[in-house]
Formats: sequence, C-alpha cells, structure tokens
Amino acid sequence: MEGSIEQQTPPRDPIPLGSSALPRRTNGGPRRWLYGYTEGDGKDKRLLGGKGANLCEMTQIGIEVPPGFVITTEACLAYLAGDDRGLPPGLLDQTREAMRGLEEKTGKGFGDASNPLLVSVRSGAAMSMPGMMDTILNLGLNRDTLAGLIAHTSDPRFGWDAYRRFVQLFGKVALGVPDEVFDDQFERVKRRAGARVDVDLEADNLEDIADRFLAVVHEATGTPFPDDPYEQLELAIEAVFDSWLGRRAVDYRREFGITADQANGTAVNVQTMVFGNLGDDCATGVAFTRDPATGENVLFGEYLVNAQGEDVVAGIRTPKPVAEMESEMPDLYRQLEELRQKLEGHYREVQDFEFTIETGRLYCLQTRNGKMNASAMVRTSVEMHDEELISRERALMRVDPAHLDQLLYPQLRDDVEVEPIGQGLPASPGAACGEAVFDADRAEELGRAGRDVILVREETKPEDIHGFFASRGILTSRGGKTSHAAVVARGMGKPCVAGAESIQVDVRARRAVASGTVIEEGDIITIDGTTGRIYSGAVPMVEPDFSAELERLLEWADETARLKVRANADTPDDARRAIEYGAMGIGLCRTERMFNAPDRLPIVLDMIMAETTAEREEALERLLPIQREDFRQVFGVMTPRPVTIRLLDPPIHEFLPQEDQLEEEIRYLGRLREAVRGMEVMVETTELLDAEGAAALADMRALGDTRRVDGVIARKEAILKRARTLKEVNPMLGHRGVRLGMTYPEIYKMQVRAILEATAQCIQDDVEVHPQIMVPQVCTAEELDAVHADCRQVCAEVEEAFGVSLDIEFGTMIEVVRACLRAERLADAADFFSFGTNDLTQATFSFSREDAENKFLPFYNERGILQDNPFEVLDQLGLGRLMALAVEWGRDRKPGLQVGICGEHGGHPESIDFCHRIGLDYVSCSAPRIPVARLAAAQAEIRSAT
Ligand code: PEP
Ligand code: MG
Repeated sequence: MEGSIEQQTPPRDPIPLGSSALPRRTNGGPRRWLYGYTEGDGKDKRLLGGKGANLCEMTQIGIEVPPGFVITTEACLAYLAGDDRGLPPGLLDQTREAMRGLEEKTGKGFGDASNPLLVSVRSGAAMSMPGMMDTILNLGLNRDTLAGLIAHTSDPRFGWDAYRRFVQLFGKVALGVPDEVFDDQFERVKRRAGARVDVDLEADNLEDIADRFLAVVHEATGTPFPDDPYEQLELAIEAVFDSWLGRRAVDYRREFGITADQANGTAVNVQTMVFGNLGDDCATGVAFTRDPATGENVLFGEYLVNAQGEDVVAGIRTPKPVAEMESEMPDLYRQLEELRQKLEGHYREVQDFEFTIETGRLYCLQTRNGKMNASAMVRTSVEMHDEELISRERALMRVDPAHLDQLLYPQLRDDVEVEPIGQGLPASPGAACGEAVFDADRAEELGRAGRDVILVREETKPEDIHGFFASRGILTSRGGKTSHAAVVARGMGKPCVAGAESIQVDVRARRAVASGTVIEEGDIITIDGTTGRIYSGAVPMVEPDFSAELERLLEWADETARLKVRANADTPDDARRAIEYGAMGIGLCRTERMFNAPDRLPIVLDMIMAETTAEREEALERLLPIQREDFRQVFGVMTPRPVTIRLLDPPIHEFLPQEDQLEEEIRYLGRLREAVRGMEVMVETTELLDAEGAAALADMRALGDTRRVDGVIARKEAILKRARTLKEVNPMLGHRGVRLGMTYPEIYKMQVRAILEATAQCIQDDVEVHPQIMVPQVCTAEELDAVHADCRQVCAEVEEAFGVSLDIEFGTMIEVVRACLRAERLADAADFFSFGTNDLTQATFSFSREDAENKFLPFYNERGILQDNPFEVLDQLGLGRLMALAVEWGRDRKPGLQVGICGEHGGHPESIDFCHRIGLDYVSCSAPRIPVARLAAAQAEIRSAT
C-alpha cells in the first residue's frame, strides 16, 4: 500500500457522537477509529464500508439489529501502512470502550463465565466483494464462557457445536491453520460415531471434535489456542484487515475492475452474536424485498428453522421458500413482511438482506442493494416509480444501459458452465448456435432449407452478404470490431465474433481448428458475440425479452433526454428494424451497403471495370433506378424522420475479388483450356477414324469450345489487371470517400440524383421526407465545395424534371483530423457535421482499425498503457478534445450547426455521456444498440442537470 492515509482519504469532519464517550478526532487528540451502530453515518460507506454503514443506518431507523460497532476503513489503511503491522495506536482502547458499551446494551459480559457476550467479526469494504474476505463467528468463547453459554441455553450440544465452529474458523482465519487438518479430525470423529450427517453428532462427539481442534491448533502454531477474549478480538481484527490483501480479494478487485481509489481498505464489524439454532422458535435466512429473477413485488427468499447461516451456505440442509414461513411461523412472517416494507421504504431500492430469529425475536443482520438481472431491474424501476417509491429520474438512473443487452439479444444461460474452445472480439452482441459453414453460398443454401448456420470465414467481404442473411451468426478469424463482418452483423442485429486469431480457418477444406478441436462443416458450434467466446456444440440460451416495462422506461428516457438517437441503417429492412427499436431518424446510411446484393454486384463490377467515363456512366445509369427505389423505400419507412445518406465511401477495390483468388481461378481456367483443346482433338480424331463413335461424342464437341473458355479467361484477366491497378498498400487511408467523388464525380452525381429523385417522388406521393446528403472523408473545404456544386446542379435538374422544390441539407462527416482543425471553414459549406469516430480514432491514434484490436491493443490494455479499447470507448482526452474543438469552431462560424456522431461510439453509454456534454444533437448507432443509447442519453441529461 503506497502513500500515507491522508493521501488515500482526505480527513473528514468528526461525526456527532451519540451517547458514547469515545474520543473524537481533534487536533493532536487520539484519532477516532470506530463508531457504534447508533452513531455512525449510514451514508458514509467509504469510511464505514457498505455493511457497516447499512448496519448503522438500520439501527438508527429503528430496525432490530444486534448491537455492534464498526472499525473504519481508515484504521485498516493505517494498519496496513504501518511497518510493524500492529493495530494503529488508540484502536485497542477504543475497542475495549466499545465492548463495554455492548456489555451494557446486552446485559452480558465479554469473557463472563456466567452470561457470556459473544461477537462476530466481519469484513465489509465500501465496494461489495461478497465472500472475498474473512469472517469469524462466536468470538469470546473459551472453556469458561462455554460453560456459561451451555448453562444459559441449557443446550450442551449447541454450546459444543458453537465452540468447535469458532475454534476452526479462528484457527483458519486468524492463525492460518489449513481447513483440511480440521476436516480430517472432524471426519474421523464422525466415522467413529457412525454419524451419517453432521446433525447426527451428539454433544460429546462435538466436545471430542473441539478438543482435537484445539490440539491441532497447538501443534500447528506451537502455542495454545488463545483463551483471552480480548486477545482473540485483537487477532481477529488484524486477520480481517489482512484479508484485504489476501489473494481472493486482490483477484476479485482485478477481475471486477475495482480501482485503487475505490478500494480503500475494509472496515471491521464487531457485532453481538444472535443464534438461529437455539430451538424450533429460531431460524435463519436470506431474503430479497422483491423477486430478483422477475422483479415481482413479493417477499422472496429462503430460511431454515433451528439453524445457523453457515448451514445454508454449506448446503448441509436444504432451506425452504420463505413463503412457507407464513403457515409455519405466522407472527414472524408478518414481522418479516414489515421488515421488508421498512427496508424498501427507507432505502427506496430492492434490498437483499439476512435475518436471524433467536427465540422468537427477529433481527436483521445485514442489508444491501439487491443484484438483479436486467429484466428485473427494468420491471422494478417502473413499478417502484408507480408505487411512488422513486422518482422518474431515479427509475432511469438505476438501470445500467449496458445491461439492456441482456434483454435485446439471445444470451447464453449463465447457469451453464462450458469451456470455450476459442476467444475472439465481441463484435456484435448476442449468442447464436448452428452448423458451421465456410462459405456464403453454402450458408445460403442451408439457411434457405431452414437449417441454423454459423458462417465461419477468415474475414468477410461484400460479396458474402447473402451468407449473412442466411446465417444465425458470423465468426471470423481476422479483423477488428470495425471490420466488414462486425459492422454488417451489427447492422443486421446478428451475433458476431470477429478476429478469433487462435482459430485456423481453412475455407477450402471446409474446416476450422480451435484449440485442437476440429470443426468440420455441419458441426454444431455456439458463438457469443457479447463475450467473444466460441463453443463446440449447442450451449443453452435464453431468448430476448422486450417487455412493456422496457417500452415505458424508454419512453421516459426519450422525454428526458436532450440528445436524439438515430440509427445506422442501410436498407429498407434495416430502417424498419430501427423504427422498432425507437430510432428518431437515420444518422448514417452507408450507400455502398446497398450494392451488396447478388443482382447489383455485377453492375458495380462494370462500374469499376469501366475504362472511360462514358462506360462508367453506362453502368451508373443501371444503378440509378436501383438506388432510387431503395431511397424511396427508406424514406417511406422513416417518414417524417430525418435520413442522413452518405455518398460512396470505401475504396472500390473492395468490390473486386481478391487478387490471389483471381490468379488461382485463372490457373484453373488455363488447365481447363488444355482439357477442352484435348476434347476437340479427341472428337476430330474420332470423326476421322470412326464416324459412328464420333456421333456418340457430339456432346463433347458442344462442350469443347475453347472460345468460351478464352472469353472467361480474358474477363478474369481484365479484372485481375484492374484489381492490381486499384490495389493500395494502405486502402483505409487511400483512394476512398470524397477522393473517389473527386476523381469520378459521375459516381456521386448518380447517387445524389437517386436521392433527389426519390425525394421528389415522395413529395409527389405526399410522404414527408428530410434527407441529408453527407460526404465522407472530407479534409478540405474545397472537396466539400466541389461536391456541393455538383449537388446544386443535379438538384436544379431534378426540380425542373419533377416540378417540385427540394429542400435538402448538405453536410460532412468529420473523420479526418484536418477536418476537425478546419471546422470553421467546413461549416461554411455544411449544414451539419457528423463525427465518424471509427476513422477519426484510427487517424488520431494512427492505429489501424483493421488490425490494432487483434495485435497490440490487448497488450496495451493489460499493461495499463491504455485503459480501454479506443475503438469501443471514445477517447475523451485526445479524440474528445478534437471533437469539442470542432463543435466549438463549427458553431462559432455557423450558430445552430447540427452535429452528431455515427461511429461505433454512438452506441456506447460512457461515450454518449461525453457527446451530451460537448453539445452534440444526436448519436447514431446500429439498430439493436438504440435502446441502450436512448437510456444512456437520458442518464447523461439527468447527470448534467444535477
Ligand atoms: C466512421 O468512420 O466512424 C464511420 C461511421 O464510417 P465507416 O465506419 O463506414 O468508415
Ligand atoms: Mg468512416
């Protein structure tokens, strides 16, 4: 532990003391290390730990809590920072004083042989870390006090049982004696006594066990078991402090990302023991104030009559549902109901609490906010609001937007434990299961036949799109979260695991190998796009659940949020899905995706192959009606919402087959030509020698026409030549976006015409449309001006031809660093900006968006060089500054300039909060992320207003 206590936690004002005479922290006076439950500030979880703060608070609102006190986290830090690891000065005195207070309250004496006070010593950090640190029960027992306990309860079995439990727990936790040594002795006695289960053991057996345990401790530690209760207490407090740095706790903090600042040591609760195992009017149990699985407003839990909490945990006896208590212990059930109402009424949150009934008296031992699944969180939010327990803001704030994924996609059941065979990037959330297939045609064939398939590829290309439609999910061994597979799958709402580099995919052999497991075509696999894991076989799943409560919560979110939420949607089908999820418009329609259909790609190929402008225009002419019809349909679905259409962006070689594939095909065709020539010779020779036999070979003659093969070879070679010409070393930074628009202006003009003609048709059909034309990859205002001029010209032509007046907004993506820095000038030519943070992240970091996530980024994250993956979590410090500047400068020049974001960060809650703070007007994300974004946008508004 580094630094002094003062650096870790600033000094705070002393909390008013109740009746206690404990020393206050004053200048130069003894520092205050503990607080009684009647006096600690229940809101100060940092100082008192979650458990301690809640015990104080419950005590102070009149809930029956066994009396106790809490030693602060500051004491823990002081102890751990000290060289000699002794308890900090003053703590022991204050502890003795507080114990005297407990003696007064309970009428018992600590170490008193006739009426002994026993306590539990439990950890309790500010962050909940269930089961990660140590607890000691029944502290204060020795042979003398045990006699008192037995006399007092008239129950020797109970007494010896409590003692042997204490010796084992204390021996293990405070003295470091391993559990196995105790277990070994326990089993021996059990065998000797012929006891089948623990409850069969009699008092004398338990006494025998306790004696053996004491001997075990003596042998292991070299000293007798400490009998002095205060010595026990001191050692126990130290042991709980030490457990803060225990392996379990350290691993837990790392696993759950608890930062050094949040992790400020553990408090220690010293609390009077109450017993649920003193007879049939005693019980112990755990309960939730509402059902944590469904959110239903009913008391939910389990209990055991005449038992200790440990028995429940150890699974020695099976607890009963709490509902049975209503008939078994009606009065106590009524008290438990009252406790539930009181807890919820006070905390205004679902509580997860522990209780013990000691001879007919109900005590609450602990309470904390209940952990629930997403659907229960949503339901309780809406219902607690309707019951006037919480405000609308609170209802919105208590649901973690990221958890909504659980409700929107199929999930793997979390009670099923299966080892994954591989791990990739969680590229598109949700789980899917099906037969592995290795090419898009086969996926389509099987998908059409009603089979569930997972498309497995090294990477995907636009021509695989039909395979996406037919598949339940997509798995690739290469590419990042913004790879083709990832972005297309997200847009379609299909699960995708991308860049699973440990899996070798052999498309030709129709096989993949993952950690030694061979996956042949047709083998069932399961992928989890939420975690990136890949499994062999079918893993059970739970289906999504878009409930009426979620709809309501999201309506509240829309009424609250300032940021609008739009969709990244490319086709009429995408647009329909976006509306279902509550999209308020389309923020990015990637027009190149509209080419991804088997009937369109050949035309696109012609456009790319064109040697002259005239040839290209001929191909574009054929594309025009197709694009126009798409836009018309998209507008029809989205009316009257805005639709932002981006002109062609990717490097056009993306639409060409790969070079090595073409070369291989040409090689095969060359061999075929030889074979065909051979056939010709065969037929000619046969004709010469045997006229009858020649007739039988007529079919062969029909096939053996080398001209046809030559024609195909020539076409392939032309494509190869073009592919080589267009090939770029760095295509993502190459001839793409507006640079294509500059060099081949006819492409953009065709697209603009398609948009405007579709708009004109909608106007004629009385369909309200608000199209926005957006130019990608802009770095200078001159690029924008040039496209704008062409737009205006096409607009005038369309207005004339259709006899309508068009009101189109024209804007630019901001995805190049220079565009941010020239925002003022760009604002002259633009009605709106939209941040393309996928490319802007790539440009700001100079990290390739295709490769970084699979290569060095995981290492950077592991080493803490970068906290997050910047392609997923918007880098507020660097890229965020660029964005803020661009917004400010753009609006300086053009007040009211509309600004949005359409990179993947538009669906990420923390990034959305940032977008809200820098004043964006909307975020745009793939359709299934929309509910997450709507909630996050509302939370951003609530946060900034408070
Ligand atoms: C972007 O760069 O953020 C963006 C939305 O465009 P694309 O991912 O299509 O390059
Ligand atoms: Mg981009």
